[in-house]
Amino acid sequence: MKNNETAIVIAGAGPAGSVTSLFLCRNKIPHIILDKSSFPRDKICGDALSGKVVDILRKLDGKLLDELNLCQAQALGSYGVKFGAPNGTCVDIPFAKNIESLKSAPGFISRRVYFDDFLFQKIDRTYATVIENAEVKELIRKENRVEVTYVQQGSQHSISCKLIVGAEGDRSVVARKLGGYVKDDRHYCAGLRAYYKGVKNFHPQNFIELHFLKELLPGYFWIFPMANGEANVGLGMLSADVSKRKINLKQSLMNIIQHHPEFKKRFEGAQLVDGIKGWGLPLGSKKRKISGSNFLLTGDAASLIDPFTGEGIGNAMLSGMVAAKHIQCALTENRFDENFLSEYDREVYGKLWNELKISRTLQRLSRYPWLFNLVINKASKSERLRNTIMIMFDNLEARKRLQNPLNYFKLFYK
Ligand SMILES: Cc1cc2nc3c(=O)[nH]c(=O)nc-3n(C[C@H](O)[C@H](O)[C@H](O)COP(=O)(O)OP(=O)(O)OC[C@H]3O[C@@H](n4cnc5c(N)ncnc54)[C@H](O)[C@@H]3O)c2cc1C
Repeated sequence: MKNNETAIVIAGAGPAGSVTSLFLCRNKIPHIILDKSSFPRDKICGDALSGKVVDILRKLDGKLLDELNLCQAQALGSYGVKFGAPNGTCVDIPFAKNIESLKSAPGFISRRVYFDDFLFQKIDRTYATVIENAEVKELIRKENRVEVTYVQQGSQHSISCKLIVGAEGDRSVVARKLGGYVKDDRHYCAGLRAYYKGVKNFHPQNFIELHFLKELLPGYFWIFPMANGEANVGLGMLSADVSKRKINLKQSLMNIIQHHPEFKKRFEGAQLVDGIKGWGLPLGSKKRKISGSNFLLTGDAASLIDPFTGEGIGNAMLSGMVAAKHIQCALTENRFDENFLSEYDREVYGKLWNELKISRTLQRLSRYPWLFNLVINKASKSERLRNTIMIMFDNLEARKRLQNPLNYFKLFYK
C-alpha cells in the first residue's frame, strides 16, 4: 500500500468476504480485507451448510472439503431434511439416493464460530493484508476512487481504493452509503437462534428439520443436530408479518419448546446453552442493483438469502466467487465504472435469479397451511413424491415445475 492507496478493499470477512479474498489470492491479486471483529467470532445463524457451500469449497480446493469431512468434532455431515407440515405430519427427504456411495456428506451443520474461522484462516497473507478489529464507518467517493474510513481500537484510519467489496453482511455500510439500500420489511426476515443441550429424537443420519408451524407461516421453526450433541434451534419469520401480527418472536419460540405437544416431549430436560439471539435475514426475493461505480456488493450486503429456505451462506460464497472474477477483469481493463461493473449483477443474477424466483413463489404458497398439509401428507405416503422432492434439491428444472399450479395436480393425483 502506497500513501494509504490500494486497488481493492474487501469490507467484511464472513463467507462472502473470505471467499472473495480466497479467489483473489488464488489469482495472486493483492488486496486488503477488513473486519470489525477478530476471528474466531460468532455469527447468529442456523449453521446449516448446503450443497452449494460444498460445491464452492470443491471449486476453491478439494482439500478444504476433505478437511471439513475429517473435522467431525466441528462439522456434522447431514444427509437429508425432515419437513413438518402445519398439521404435524412429517416427511424425511434424503439429499441423495445412494448415501453410502458418497465421498462427502451432501451438507453439514457447523457452528459459524468454527466454519467462518476455517475459511478466514485459509486466506493467503502473501496477497491479502488482513486487518481485524477494523470497523468501516464512512465511505466517500472522490475522483473515481473511494476513501474508506475505519476505526481500529479507537483510532481512525483511511484507505483510498479503486474498488470496495461490500461484504459486511446485513448492516452493510457499503450497501447503504454507496448502493443507497434501505431495509424493506416485505423482503426481510427476522430470525432467532438458540443452542440447546439434550434435545431428543434426531434422525440417525443427522437430517436437518424444518417445521412449518401454522402460527409462523410463511416462516418456520428449525432444529438442527450438531457435532457436539447440542442442537441449533430457532425460527424465522417475515418482518412485515411480525409487525402486522405484533408477534413476540422470543415468546413464540418458548411457547413451541414448552407447550407444543410434539416438541415439548423432545425438549423435556433440555438446557438452553447460551442466550436466545436475534439477527436479520435480507432476502433475495427482489432484484436489486448490486454494483455501481467503484463498488460490488456480495452476500447479505447484496440481499441474496433464499426467501423460502433462509439459506444465505452458499449464495454469499457464490457471489464472492463471482466478485473475484469481475475484480480481475476490472483490474485488467482498469475500469471501475458503473457500466463495466454491471456485468457482475448480470452474472450473479444469471446464476441465482431463477432459483430465488422459485423460492419466492414457494414462500408465497407456504402461506396456505392446507397446501403444505396436502404436500407433506401425500409425500409421507408416496415414495415417488419423496423422490421427486429429492430431485428438486439438485435440479432447478424440476423445481421450476412447482411454479405452475397444474403441476401440483399432476404431482398429487397421478
Ligand atoms: C437466525 C439466522 C439463521 C440463519 N440460518 C442459516 C442457515 O442455517 N444456513 C444458511 O446458509 N444461512 C443461514 N442464515 C443466513 C446466513 O447467516 C447469512 O446469509 C450469511 O452469514 C451471509 O454471509 P456474509 O459473509 O454475507 O455476511 P456475514 O456472515 O454477516 O459476515 C459479515 C462480516 O462483516 C463484518 N462486518 C460487519 N460490519 C462491518 C463493518 N462496518 N466493517 C467491517 N466489517 C464489518 C462482520 O464482523 C462479519 O464478519 C441465517 C441467518 C440468520 C439471521
